[in-house]
Amino acid sequence: MEFKNVWKNYDKKQLKELEALNKEYIDFISECKTERECVDRIVAMAEAAGYRELETVIAAGKKLKAGDKVYAVWMNKSVCLFQLGKKPLTDGLNILGAHIDSPRMDLKSNPLFEKKDIAYLDTHYYGGIKKYQWVTLPLALHGVLVKKDGTTVEINIGEDADDPVFFVSDLLIHLAADQLDKKAAKVIEGEALDIIVGSKPLSIMHETTESKSKKKSDKEKAEDGVKAGVLDILKLEYGVEEEDFYSAEIEVVPAGRAREAGFDRSIVLGYGQDDRVCAFTSLKAMLDTKSVDRTMSCILVDKEEIGSVGATGMHSKFFENAVAELLNLCGDYSDLNLRRTLARSAMLSSDVSAAFDPSFAASFEEKNAAYLNGGMVFNKYTGARGKSGSNDANAEYIAHIRKVFDEAKVQFQFAELGKVDQGGGGTIAYILAEHGMNVIDAGIPVLNMHAPWEATGKADIYETYRGYKAFVKGVTI
Ligand code: MN
Ligand code: MN
Repeated sequence: MEFKNVWKNYDKKQLKELEALNKEYIDFISECKTERECVDRIVAMAEAAGYRELETVIAAGKKLKAGDKVYAVWMNKSVCLFQLGKKPLTDGLNILGAHIDSPRMDLKSNPLFEKKDIAYLDTHYYGGIKKYQWVTLPLALHGVLVKKDGTTVEINIGEDADDPVFFVSDLLIHLAADQLDKKAAKVIEGEALDIIVGSKPLSIMHETTESKSKKKSDKEKAEDGVKAGVLDILKLEYGVEEEDFYSAEIEVVPAGRAREAGFDRSIVLGYGQDDRVCAFTSLKAMLDTKSVDRTMSCILVDKEEIGSVGATGMHSKFFENAVAELLNLCGDYSDLNLRRTLARSAMLSSDVSAAFDPSFAASFEEKNAAYLNGGMVFNKYTGARGKSGSNDANAEYIAHIRKVFDEAKVQFQFAELGKVDQGGGGTIAYILAEHGMNVIDAGIPVLNMHAPWEATGKADIYETYRGYKAFVKGVTI
């Protein structure tokens, strides 16, 4: 099967649409670097498009009918959206599902310490990372601390031009003889991922913040360390104490905005594109689709990178519960109807795929690799070591999707993650498939996946958005 560069497909109007979509996408990933930030933005976009919160519809005792649009948020970290179709829910849904968590470093529960007058925050990395990639970069802190009285303090430090940033140090090359003899997995070890966050003793801090901190200074003057200095700033600027780190979720991410890359600006370089690139395009496809025969849904979930576990991961029942509530609001709820609705649904597990990297060609099998500018990628199966842990999509379902996509003139490619026995990966596909529904992995090729800065092709983003629109409109199986 011949490779065709998807850029060649577009007329002037489409190229304009492509650039507009990517501009909005670059803003989205630059401003939404945690699950919570994504959910807040997604809810704002959904409400602007006429979606109402499911809980409020239930509370109002209203019924739902064709054309109605609702969303449900779970614990501020996962969200699903529905637009009711003309057909009954029990005919099944067309579902786009992506994840909004990304690899990063999380602060530990007791993170703050000092060593030789340098203050650090200790981290535990989240998801699969090459640890050596995360040192010496400007980093930002995003997240929440929840105080005992229930108030939430939001943290977002390192993104504005005049914000401070944070970093993990690396050993200078001049003294790295022993380090460079180590295996790459050991060059930087997990426990060495400590973020440098300060180096001024508390007494010096007080020279500059004296007027604001008079009350505190007496109490803390005894301990004149750099850790005390950092705690002083946290108290003054955010009103939080060291113990508040116990009830916090703070993510350490690369600081700064996503950028266009290349002389021709054809590539997007940004943090967290696995899988916010599929989350954004799925959401946009849903919001831009005005009416459907089959009810459509978009699920944007947390915790995929660590196995889809927890109350906000795909293994949680929140999506199934939301569908049960929908059936109830349509006057059709029964356990059997819920099972039928889910079993008769069709899903695109919208997740990124490894883009063939000519610099590392030996890790790919070229006939079955996804290519930058090759268009949307389907993975019949993912998994590792003999497809283990994979959802292996049905041939009949794939044939139907091929027809829908060809009719919509959407360019797609079929791929595996890499060479057999080189590794592998999973998505949320197999979890939804447990209901008996048809599911296939579909998404966007990414270069340097899971690195602090990942790369995607603007044209693949646009083509996948077109593909998701074709899917929600056209799939009837
Ligand atoms: Mn992913
Ligand atoms: Mn991933």
